[in-house]
Amino acid sequence: MIFKRSFIPVLLFVFSFLPLTHAQAGNSAKLSVHWEELTASDFREGIQRSQGTCVLPFGILEKHGPHLPLGTDLLDVRHAALHAAEQEYAVVFPEYYFGQIAEAKHEPGTMAYSRSLQLALLQETTDEMARNGCKKVLIVNGHGGNSSLLPYFAQTQLDKPHDYVVYVFDERTPQQGGPPKTDALDMHAGQSETSKMMISRPDLVHLDRAKNESGADQKRQKLSEDVYTGIWWYTRFPFHYSGDGSIATKQLGEYQMNWWIDSIVKVIKTVKEDDVSPKLQKEFYEKSTHPLDTQP
Ligand SMILES: [Zn+2]
Repeated sequence: MIFKRSFIPVLLFVFSFLPLTHAQAGNSAKLSVHWEELTASDFREGIQRSQGTCVLPFGILEKHGPHLPLGTDLLDVRHAALHAAEQEYAVVFPEYYFGQIAEAKHEPGTMAYSRSLQLALLQETTDEMARNGCKKVLIVNGHGGNSSLLPYFAQTQLDKPHDYVVYVFDERTPQQGGPPKTDALDMHAGQSETSKMMISRPDLVHLDRAKNESGADQKRQKLSEDVYTGIWWYTRFPFHYSGDGSIATKQLGEYQMNWWIDSIVKVIKTVKEDDVSPKLQKEFYEKSTHPLDTQP
């Protein structure tokens, strides 16, 4: 009797490993899309599975009206990119928020790196990604203030030879379709951005505070629209809020977030299929070393 009893816990202990072993086997078959979650050998497999396509979701830390978190763009872009990569496998780089946000330096919590560091850090990041097998780096932009920086960065890859191609995807909101959008401005922490945040991190949305500040256009600059100045944003939206977050809805957020995820899935697919850019980029670098031989 005593013997039998003492065996029971041992047997339970042994059997408790069986389902665990199955679970572990299942986990290794399903490769994480998160760069930082992969082991070194799983990373090798991830690069193979993604055909060398890696995603760099690009966020920022800046005020988002009175009601959304500083990391709104980072949290949203990672939500969209990670869900997309789950559907169309790609390795997704960890949190990256070292972009252009000089225009919010007067607000608390903004991390605004210098122009030279933004470019240098992004170059070293994509160089290092490529050294690790990411021969196609897809930057998915989550922050409007990066929309000049990223095409410029991509263009300047032609300066000198790189053994990888940089792709930039900079769309976050569908132009039409879905539940009606009633926010005429909707440029920053407005209806769309607040609605999307209700999907990615609803616990961080303080809808009751959305009317505490004004997101109205202050229209203080009297210049024609074809003249650009860096202070334009501050002249119009000094509170770093543009639109009305209080009219956000979960339905709109769901529609827009799904659209964003689907769009990234399509882009990952086309980037994987793209054999023209790597080939012609290589040809271009080679021809650039002896331009006098280039014939029409
Ligand atoms: Zn934003």
